[in-house]
Amino acid sequence: MSSTSDCLFCGIVEGRIPSNLIREDERTLAFRDIDPQAPVHVLVIPKKHLSSLDDAAAEDGALLGDLMLTAREVARSEGIAESGFRTVVNTGDEGGQTVGHLHVHVLGGRSMTWPPG
Ligand code: 5GP
Ligand code: ZN
Repeated sequence: MSSTSDCLFCGIVEGRIPSNLIREDERTLAFRDIDPQAPVHVLVIPKKHLSSLDDAAAEDGALLGDLMLTAREVARSEGIAESGFRTVVNTGDEGGQTVGHLHVHVLGGRSMTWPPG
């Protein structure tokens, strides 16, 4: 499994950096965002280091599906599946990405607005 020693989220995967973990399986991890933007704000990440969605290859297709299915499970366990929730993947500078390890935001517990900022 690839990882980078200077990657924050690889540090969480490896347990070097503490996190508020809510779900883990073979390929994915879900933990609470340190700066929540909604009553529920969870990050779902692959354990494999991918720097962004732009770094994903065709062979990562199943892993990308795993991330979405984990996001769905998080929404259910957090009690926001029925009320509705938002999944967000920020990519690159103008996409607003600040951590260089692919992650899916799962946001809910309040009404979301559109368009996003
Ligand atoms: P991005 O801006 O890259 O889409 O999202 C990065 C997210 O990671 C932000 O929402 C930010 O609050 C969160 N974050 C940054 N550092 C940490 C950390 O050390 N722990 C946790 N749990 N979240 C973090
Ligand atoms: Zn990483």
